Amino acid sequence: MNYFAGIDVGSTAIKVAVVDEEGNVAGVHVAASGSLFHRNSTEALNCLLGRLHLKRSDVRYLIATGYGRKLFKEADDSISEITANAIGAFEAGKAFGGVGTIINIGGQDSKAIQIDENGNVVNFAMNDKCAAGTGRFLDVAARNLDLDLEELGDYHFKGENAPLNINSTCTVFAESEIIGLLANGHGKPEIIAGIHYSIASRTVRLAKRVGIEGRVYFDGGPALNRGLVAALQDELGRELVIPEHPQTTTAFGAAMLARDEFMAEQQAGRA
Ligand code: ADP
Repeated sequence: MNYFAGIDVGSTAIKVAVVDEEGNVAGVHVAASGSLFHRNSTEALNCLLGRLHLKRSDVRYLIATGYGRKLFKEADDSISEITANAIGAFEAGKAFGGVGTIINIGGQDSKAIQIDENGNVVNFAMNDKCAAGTGRFLDVAARNLDLDLEELGDYHFKGENAPLNINSTCTVFAESEIIGLLANGHGKPEIIAGIHYSIASRTVRLAKRVGIEGRVYFDGGPALNRGLVAALQDELGRELVIPEHPQTTTAFGAAMLARDEFMAEQQAGRA
């Protein structure tokens, strides 16, 4: 059996996906990017291959994507994360009846992508200038609130009072605002829900710039936070499609493209 891999070298996390010839997901893996992107990407790939009992030679084609994709030189090809995310969401979205809009929140940026019924990118917008509205904002908030990142989602629903307004439009100022709110006796749940709503409203503004069409697919690491999902659904006024592995959609898209390119080359060779 031939296998195909996508590796998404993100600003915060490295994601690897391996698919088989039928496009079924054999496995996915997430590891911290750290500062040694190349070494950590190689380790992440080897870790997943080891878990799947595959040799490197079983992977017939590998496509790199993401912020640090150029650093992974062993890849057979590389593509932008917009293209890879669109392919991944289009493929994973089929099980939900198809998607038209993708919202991706990553560690340091956020994106909205509109795709057509064939999965082609029609329009996209990106915020990579400001950490507010990205996973970094959540990381900073968790640290200030002395919580694990994974706890934020549950805290969102624990508040007895309405979510607080987080007014700072910059992560650095928001950090002082959070500390000020804690010092004034406000509860963590109300602060956390406020943070989620602040990210959600920024994200909706971004999505409106590209136009919200069809079902909306939400991916990237922060889509694992069910409190943020609830806030985003509330601000959007519609349900979101959340895949089983939201953080690895872009790596999955790269793996699917690797499979398609390899199959197309093989067919061309036979013709
Ligand atoms: P990038 O591609 O830019 O590295 P990711 O899509 O991997 O970004 O998302 C990274 C972000 O995901 C982190 O900054 C963090 O805020 C968030 N994240 C990761 N794991 C979880 C989790 N289990 N629960 C909630 N948020 C998470």
